[in-house]
Formats: sequence, C-alpha cells, structure tokens
Amino acid sequence: MIRAKSMFIEGVWVEAAESKLREIYNPATGKVIAFVAEGGVEDVHKAAAAARKAFDESGWPETSPLERARLLHAIADRIELAAEELAILETMNVGKPLRESHHDVSEAVQCFRYYAGLVNKPFGQTYPVADPMVAMVVREPIGVCGQIVPWNYPLVMAAWKLAPCLAAGNTTVFKPSEITPLTAIRLFEILQEVGLPPGVANLVLGTGAVVGREIVVSPLVDKVAFTGGTATGSSIMEAASKTIKKVSLELGGKSPNIVFADADFETAVEYAMFGIFANQGQVCSAGSRLLLEDSIHDRFVEALVERCQKIRVGNGMNERNEMGSLVSPAHMQKVLDYIEIGKREGARLATGGHRLTGGDYDQGCFVAPTIFIDVTPDMRIVKEEIFGPVLVVQRFKTEEEAIRLANDTVFGLAGGVFTQDGAKGLRVVKKLRAGITWINSYHPTYIEAPWGGYKRSGIGRELGTFGLDAYTEIKQINVNLHVAPLGLYNND
Ligand code: NAD
Repeated sequence: MIRAKSMFIEGVWVEAAESKLREIYNPATGKVIAFVAEGGVEDVHKAAAAARKAFDESGWPETSPLERARLLHAIADRIELAAEELAILETMNVGKPLRESHHDVSEAVQCFRYYAGLVNKPFGQTYPVADPMVAMVVREPIGVCGQIVPWNYPLVMAAWKLAPCLAAGNTTVFKPSEITPLTAIRLFEILQEVGLPPGVANLVLGTGAVVGREIVVSPLVDKVAFTGGTATGSSIMEAASKTIKKVSLELGGKSPNIVFADADFETAVEYAMFGIFANQGQVCSAGSRLLLEDSIHDRFVEALVERCQKIRVGNGMNERNEMGSLVSPAHMQKVLDYIEIGKREGARLATGGHRLTGGDYDQGCFVAPTIFIDVTPDMRIVKEEIFGPVLVVQRFKTEEEAIRLANDTVFGLAGGVFTQDGAKGLRVVKKLRAGITWINSYHPTYIEAPWGGYKRSGIGRELGTFGLDAYTEIKQINVNLHVAPLGLYNND
C-alpha cells in the first residue's frame, strides 16, 4: 500500500465530501496499491469556487511573469528530485515499463521548464490603423480552466495541462483519470511545496461521469481542456456548449505508418514496433496501421513477426521487460474483444492475438504483441482505435494509393513515412491529413512543437507557443492619441 490520499482544494488536502474512497490497482499484479478519495459533485463545486476566487481576487493573474517562471522552475526542480519515486509510482499504477516512466518524468520536467522560459517572452501585436488611434492586442489569461486527462500518460498529461495554464496566469480544477491518480497526487504535493497560492491549482478525484461532467457544466469554469477518447470529447463539447466554454480537445487516433520499399529496412522495422508497442499500444498517436509497399510486404512482416516474438513482456518494474501490462482488466478485455472481432472479420493473425497466461502473467493484464495481416479497409480493426498492442498491416502499390489509404480514417492525429527519397518523404507527409508527422521516425515529439489533431482527433494545439496561446484570451486595445470631443451631437 503506497498511500491513502485526498483531494487538494484551496491549498488544503481534503477528503471527499461524501467520505468515499476508491481502490487503486497495480494492473501488473492485480493488487490494490492505494486508496484515494472518490470525489463527487460537491467537491467540484468547492474546487471551482476556490479556483474562481483565486482568479478573481487573489491577484494571481497579475503576478509578475518572473514570479510565475520561478514557481514553474521550482516545480521542475522538485519533479527532478522525486524522479525515481514518480517513475515507480507511474509504472505501478499504469503498468508501463520503468524505462518509459523515466522518460515521462523527464518530459514533465522539460514541460515545466519550457513554459517557465516562455512566460515573459514578447507576444502581442500592434496594428497600423487610422490616425490618431493606436490599436494593439494583448493576451490575457482565460480564467478558471477545467482540465481532464486520461490514464495512459498521467504525469505527462498533467504537466502538459498545468504548465501552460499556470504560466499564462489561469487557475485550474484538474482531474486525472480515476484509475491512475497517483502521480498527479504527488505532483500536487509538489505544487503545494513550492508555494503556489491557495486555489490556483485544485485537484479533484473521481469518475468522468460525475466529477468530470460537473467540471464541464460548471458556470464558474471558463475553459475545458480535455484529453481522452473521441466519444467522450464529443459529449464534453456538447455539455460545454451550454455555457459557451472555450474547449480544447486532444482525442483518439488510428494513425498510419507508411513504409516504402526504398526505406532503410531495419530502421523501419524497429520504428514500426516502437510505433505500436510503446506503452503497450495505449498511445493516442500510436502507429496502429502499418502500410507496406507491396514488394517488401512479406519480407517486412516476416522480420517484424520474428522481432515481436522476442519482445520481453512482463511487470514493468523489472527493468529487463520491454512491454508491460495494459492498464486494467476492463481495458484488456476491450483489446481482446477487438482481436476476436478481427478474427471474425477474416483478418489473419501473423503473431500474438491472445492474453499471456501462466505464472505471474495470470495476475496481470498482459497481451501478446499482435499483428493482423490480410486486412481490408472496411474492417473495424482497421477503422477503430483499439488502444492496445494490436497492429494491422495494409499493403499498397503506389504513392497515391499509400496516401489514399493513410487518409481513409475519421481520425487525423499522426502519421509516419519511411523512405530514403527525401522529396517523396516530404511530398507524402504533406498530403497526410494529420497534425503530427514524421519522416524516418515515429513517436518522438518535443515540448517545443505543437501537438494536436486534424479531423476527429481534436480541436486546438497543446505545447510550444501554440500551447500557451490556448490558455489566453485575445484583447484588442484602442488608444486615442488625440483626446478631444468627437463633436457629433448637439453642436448648433
Ligand atoms: P476517456 O475519454 O474515457 O477518459 C478521459 C478522461 O475523461 C478521464 O479522466 C475520465 O474520467 C474523463 N471523462 C470520462 N467521461 C467524461 C465525461 N462525460 N465528462 C467529463 N469527463 C469525462 O479516455 P481514456 O480511456 O482515459 O483514455 C484513452 C483515450 O485518450 C484514447 O482514445 C486516446 O487516444 C486518448 N488520448 C489522446 C491524447 C492526445 O493527445 N490526442 C493523448 C492521450 C490519450
């Protein structure tokens, strides 16, 4: 048992108003590792009121940018100091390999540092308008932000949400996924330690249906920033419409990874694996559709299968393991159901396709790396986000066909192209209807660059300068340089 923690509202750790608790599991062992508060509607009301008060009355939005930068750097410093603890917490709660959790911690540090650096950089514009006026634009914080995140990257998602939000001078009501709250709780301890003013950042815990929903409908909340499934995003947009909240959405994907025959073979094979098996495939931008040029299809699949069968799957706490547990029994079942759907649809399993059992596997949620071949574009396993270690392989003969297949999806989050022909790589990537793309790489993205999707993969961008903009309102200020009456009325 690692902790029994509560919610952080107006600078104080509080129990749920209804005194409810939730068990938190380690999905690799099936064991309960913590009890946390299970919040309800009343807790959201308190948190939203605290965030409102902090925004309207505490002077937080007017804090000097350098002070906000100092706080963000202090948060980054403390995350670094707690790196080992945070990585272990993440692996125990999410099931991912420890090496991936360490990477997540570094990314969280970089994110706070990046926005600490961006806080006081110039932005705003002036416009040449008719004399004697000067027109300018300034950016101001939006107000109270409701921030709701999923379970696949709990710490990274918290950093992506909190760092730009606080940098811009907003206050927040933050909700992690109900099944993976542990690193967010630890992060809020850090926010408390660095001396963030009470009410500026509030943590509420509980389900999406109750706590998440209440954040979205609260009249005290000005913006909702959501990361999660596309269906949830759609219902959030609808619920938020009642109060005309600003909404930013980072949603699901079914991203294509295109390999041309002239690609560096070994590089493409390894990135194809990384594209789908990182975090057990529970990545919004996963390269879950591999598009292979016909002439290399069989050789590529053969190499891929051989290497996939050697992936060491097991408890993420064992540093030898390269793939961990899925996040929960319910999610594992969803992935296994998709595998059955794929078989029924007539796709052929090249490898995997089952839960791993025997010994320690029996306690956890381990699914073998799975590859389907002989798929058709109309199959559900090709069209829908599975969010697990399941790759579907499609084949193409021409560049045009590759582009057409790649874009044949309602999603538009990411996409990769492997080729040694630089012009072709850029040509194809430019045709992809997706927000995040790679040439001869898959997955690495950077805090400095904008993150988000086309089509049903979302609205808006996080990270980079775009990510700070997303937490600001734009105000036009017109200044009259010649102060005199207009002379329009009653002049006779
Ligand atoms: P989810 O949509 O079920 O839940 C995400 C969060 O929303 C959770 O905190 C949940 O409690 C909350 N929630 C659920 N219903 C809600 C409602 N009606 N109102 C308000 N909040 C609600 O998603 P998940 O299963 O936790 O995560 C997986 C999904 O997240 C995948 O589709 C994945 O692609 C997506 N994702 C997208 C990105 C991105 O950057 N585009 C990043 C990570 C994950």
